[in-house]
Amino acid sequence: MEEFDVVVVGGGIAGLSMAAALGGSSLRVCVLEAGPGSAAESPLGGDVTDFDPRVSALTPRSIAFLQRLGAWPLISARRHSPYSHMTVWDAEGTGRIEFDAAEVAASSLGSIVENREIIAALAQCVRQAPNVELRCETQLAELTQGEEHNVLTLSCGATLRSALLVAADGAQSATRELLGLRTREWAYGHRAIVTTAAFEQGHQATAWQRFLPTGPLALLPLSASGERLCSIVWSIDESQADAVLDLDDAAFAQALGEASEYALGAVERCAPRRAFPLRQRHAVDYVVPGAALVADAAHTIHPLAGQGINLGLADVDVLAEEVLQAASRGLSPGRLDVLRRYQRRRKADNLTMMAAMDGFKRLFEQDALPLRWLRNTGMRLVGRAPAVKRRIIREAMGVA
Ligand SMILES: Cc1cc2nc3c(=O)[nH]c(=O)nc-3n(C[C@H](O)[C@H](O)[C@H](O)COP(=O)(O)OP(=O)(O)OC[C@H]3O[C@@H](n4cnc5c(N)ncnc54)[C@H](O)[C@@H]3O)c2cc1C
Repeated sequence: MEEFDVVVVGGGIAGLSMAAALGGSSLRVCVLEAGPGSAAESPLGGDVTDFDPRVSALTPRSIAFLQRLGAWPLISARRHSPYSHMTVWDAEGTGRIEFDAAEVAASSLGSIVENREIIAALAQCVRQAPNVELRCETQLAELTQGEEHNVLTLSCGATLRSALLVAADGAQSATRELLGLRTREWAYGHRAIVTTAAFEQGHQATAWQRFLPTGPLALLPLSASGERLCSIVWSIDESQADAVLDLDDAAFAQALGEASEYALGAVERCAPRRAFPLRQRHAVDYVVPGAALVADAAHTIHPLAGQGINLGLADVDVLAEEVLQAASRGLSPGRLDVLRRYQRRRKADNLTMMAAMDGFKRLFEQDALPLRWLRNTGMRLVGRAPAVKRRIIREAMGVA
């Protein structure tokens, strides 16, 4: 039986960043990834099909964390798209609000990065860490939790022992099930359609978000020649999603142009579309003795403010800090008091953000006149209150 201090299940952004954060320490770490491992990086061309349709709007806080892990220099040497401005407007009324990095004396509000670029950079960091082993095409099949150790049986038949098991296997976490950790969850009634589109006009390093009664549409600026490419996250009522997904390229481009109110002119080209059903999900407990959930395994959130993996990276940052601190004091990383400190430090933040996103989603889907008036007036008032705006910007940047 092989012995590890920490086994991480899942080699996505959360799992790899956890392993990278423990890289170079005295702990023996193993990452189990069901898939073939980090996908190839994107071709660095400038066409709509040269971009991963899955992107993350990373906050300055997440970027600083990736910098500490050594992943950010690898990402920035290839491709990312800083944005300095955000425009949000209501399709049903006159409400509109603008946020600018200059309002908080920052150079950008964040950066749009393709998920496969983040994963490739983190995998490179993990492979360079002498104390971390990455095993791809391997899954956790069985788990026995003992007083001091977890015993893990893998799909290949091997058996591992670990003091701490970190579940970073995403929203449908099978590890969470094996641990018996319950969730509270409900469907948002939205599906998110993602793709990359070329627009007639430049995006001006601005993230554009229009709230339609059927769900929010985001145009996220991509750094490519001419600055006319955007990553699209179009959240749309379940009842209408199939009809939009069935449109051919030309009809989809037309529908996207209309939905964006031609803010960047007509849509000239679109890459193939992918869709994700959206659920709010939150684990009642993130930890049990010897195990912890992080990122989407612990919580999933509507992508309307692009906070999902930003919350996940903050989980990882805090859990790694607690685990390293325990190790430096000669304590087992699986001790419940160590893991409870992680849960205490993260749960309230995650819940606050989830409640805010849920509130936004509900407020903007209401058709009743008083609510439309309320949100349009609210946007105008916030737009005229610099202190409130600065607070919102700092919260969204993860630096409040
Ligand atoms: C449309 C959309 C847009 C989004 N936009 C943003 C954004 O702009 N900003 C933001 O912060 N967040 C965004 N998010 C959220 C973000 O994508 C997720 O929070 C993030 O991908 C979660 O990462 P993760 O590593 O926790 O899980 P995942 O990405 O799901 O990774 C889990 C990994 O575990 C592996 N795995 C699964 N089961 C097993 C197993 N049994 N054994 C071994 N390995 C296993 C999988 O192969 C995978 O590699 C968005 C989400 C959606 C749906």
